[in-house]
Amino acid sequence: MSLGLANQLIGFLEKLGVKQTILIGGEPTIYPHLLPVIKGLLEAGIAPNLVTNGKKLADASFSEALIEAGLKKISISVKAADSLQYMELTGVDCYNDVISGYKIIKSLGVEPSLSITLVSKLIPHVERLLNNLLEEDITAVTFDMGSPVVVGDIISGEGIPDPKELADSCVNIYRFLKEKNNRFNMRISIPLCLLPDDIRNEMKDSQAIMTCCHIQGGEGLIFDQVGEILPCNHFPAHPLGKFGVDFSDVETFMNFWHGKEMEEFRNLTRRFPSEICEGCKDWDYCGGGCFLEWLYFDPNKFIKKEVK
Ligand code: SF4
Ligand code: SF4
Repeated sequence: MSLGLANQLIGFLEKLGVKQTILIGGEPTIYPHLLPVIKGLLEAGIAPNLVTNGKKLADASFSEALIEAGLKKISISVKAADSLQYMELTGVDCYNDVISGYKIIKSLGVEPSLSITLVSKLIPHVERLLNNLLEEDITAVTFDMGSPVVVGDIISGEGIPDPKELADSCVNIYRFLKEKNNRFNMRISIPLCLLPDDIRNEMKDSQAIMTCCHIQGGEGLIFDQVGEILPCNHFPAHPLGKFGVDFSDVETFMNFWHGKEMEEFRNLTRRFPSEICEGCKDWDYCGGGCFLEWLYFDPNKFIKKEVK
């Protein structure tokens, strides 16, 4: 994204009253205008949260510049359990850089959070990864669940576990961290009814899970590098509209965002994946899981009983 467009978007978001933003990629630490964008957001009263693979944070002078610019929220996305598995899964060994970057940022007074996305190749190694992180005294970890991606006209679920595998993994991680008395936070994108009743209720009561898709409620805007709005980062090439074309200020944005086409799109994402969901008391909380899952997996194989 050019710095000119980034500044225009910051001005627009400020007028819209936005208070939080997430800087994500690709990989935002290789974006040449990252520091001016962080400063511009802060001047506009918008808190930036940087989501990074963590590799560049191992460069102490780069990390110092981020913190000096005023960045206070950093999420590091961890892809593998150790150096060997990083090479195997990503082709680059950056496990040690991630750990060292985490420690550098923490020593500068900001505790980063780590995020782990549950995908098929990582699930068998999650406990090893958590043990390795605990050895480094890293306990603030948030989990995300892998979801299919729209690639052109195809829904790709390559490397994505099915909803039952994700539910089983979620339960195992919850039990593991509970035994160690550690924090547990997970963004759930599967049917809540796939979790055992007792665990689901415990997770809900302790507010350890976040559910529901931001698209369904029309919350959150995602801009790509040319100012197009994406439904979420699982739709990289399916923009809903474009800054400067479909809207250019708060008034034209409101007309666009609450217009007929956007409402029709949201209504599609709010459809019950199964008729069982119609009678479920948890519908407002669960939303039937990520609707992209149901373009790839058959909901009738997974949604068997409503929550009473
Ligand atoms: S809303 Fe549907 S998917 Fe979610 S818990 Fe209820 S029955 Fe299961
Ligand atoms: S469709 Fe919704 S739940 Fe699924 S990945 Fe996108 S934002 Fe998340």
